Amino acid sequence: MIKKKNYRSPIITVVGHIDHGKTTFLNYINNNKKMVKEHGGITQHIKSYYINTKFGNMTFLDTPGHFAFNSNRENCIKIADIVLLIISITDGIKPQTIESINLIKNFKKPTIIALNKIDKSNDAGEQEKIILNNLIAEKLVPEKWGGDVIVSLISSKTGKGVDNLMEMLYIQSEMLELEINTNDKTYGIILENKIDTGKGFISTIILKNGCLEKGGMIKINNVVRKVKNIYDTNNSIISMARESVPVNIIGLDKDVIIGETFEIIINYKKTKKINVIQTNSITKTIDIYDPETVFQNINNDITKINVIIKVDTQGSMNAIKTSLEKLSTKKIKINIIKIDIGDFNTSDIDLGVITHAFLIGFNVKKDSKIKNIIKKQLIEINIFHVIYDILNFVTIKINENEKLIEENNVIGTAIVKKIFNNETYIIAGCLITTGVIKNNSKIKITRQNNIIHEGYINSIKILKKNVSLITHGHECGITIKNFNKIKIHDKITVY
Ligand code: GDP
Repeated sequence: MIKKKNYRSPIITVVGHIDHGKTTFLNYINNNKKMVKEHGGITQHIKSYYINTKFGNMTFLDTPGHFAFNSNRENCIKIADIVLLIISITDGIKPQTIESINLIKNFKKPTIIALNKIDKSNDAGEQEKIILNNLIAEKLVPEKWGGDVIVSLISSKTGKGVDNLMEMLYIQSEMLELEINTNDKTYGIILENKIDTGKGFISTIILKNGCLEKGGMIKINNVVRKVKNIYDTNNSIISMARESVPVNIIGLDKDVIIGETFEIIINYKKTKKINVIQTNSITKTIDIYDPETVFQNINNDITKINVIIKVDTQGSMNAIKTSLEKLSTKKIKINIIKIDIGDFNTSDIDLGVITHAFLIGFNVKKDSKIKNIIKKQLIEINIFHVIYDILNFVTIKINENEKLIEENNVIGTAIVKKIFNNETYIIAGCLITTGVIKNNSKIKITRQNNIIHEGYINSIKILKKNVSLITHGHECGITIKNFNKIKIHDKITVY
């Protein structure tokens, strides 16, 4: 008897430059079910949809268009059976179109191109020709001109051409013969990780082959984790995840990185020598920071702006980290002391106070307990919802600092780490964090970015011996003329 073949639905990753219409297209084919619009109307997270179309079920992955999210795009292209590249016919090929094309070529994925917004164009024919020429320059030759790349003209607003495009996607997936192979290993990929206030650590995964049941074991990098619960994308508990259908699972932890492939252990009892990691449903935020190391490796000529960042998902974390690091200039370095997923907690605030860091949140919350603490500590948490706003905020801080350095001729900074009481003076045990501190120099003392004193250094001592200057990286005792209210964590800036 011939065994009936089983096929899975295609995973189609939608890529393209920001604003070219990826989300509008997905809205349209999802019967205009209102998809939750992200802040600023831009996609900043991978979103997955299992859509019942007239050509059968298909999984679509919507990817962020902003340049910072390249690694998210890469993960989604890696897992895709077919890539759908959307290009606005009125705008043509843009930087993230090229970036997407490079990834498509890298991973050698079958690709269909949709030229969108034809309803907006007065001269679609001419604009199509220009884009097709540009595609040839990128080594993507359209079928129309003898190549193998299908190009479809659509309007995601009116729906014109969308049916034809869906048929093309269906035909392409039929040609790929996405057969489920029961003899092959069961595996999938992690698309996103985040912390949910109620559920704890949640991972969005998609299986490429095989099924995963609640209680099943997942092996990633030789470590096995137990799946405690499975939810569909509508947040309902389900007992089993199937091929090509995105689901959210509980049981993984922060050591698991998005984009990683995992294997499902079918018969766990038979597998030995594997470590099983048990996770708590509410994952505790682990500090990746040791306060003593923060002030190390500070270059004489560079001022560091310390930042502590809390974000909603692991995908945002990677995007924000790389974008912020790129903002550093010759004089100012963005020093990410901690970046982590989840809401702010008290240890983040303590760390912020000790390190004079800016606390930046991306789509996270501050509860009332945290609000009270930050009020007492005179420290601010800056929460943003759009990546551009974080980058603007940090750029402004860089510019302000550069201006300050230029105007005031700052020659050194020190942080107070301990206080010693002498009969006549308070001695501040300091670490020189940048430049040089000279005796009798003019100084400003700041506490949480507020100036609390302006005056002069009275003495500098190293191991009870008076010295006239001390350079960065060293510790010393400093007394200040006519001022004895200095406290731990205060910052001394010398002009
Ligand atoms: P994304 O960043 O690629 O997800 O782009 P969006 O789907 O958010 O679309 C960006 C803007 O283009 C929105 O204002 C949409 O309403 C508009 N848009 C998208 N597709 C079309 C289309 O086919 N025709 C017209 N006229 N506007 C469109």
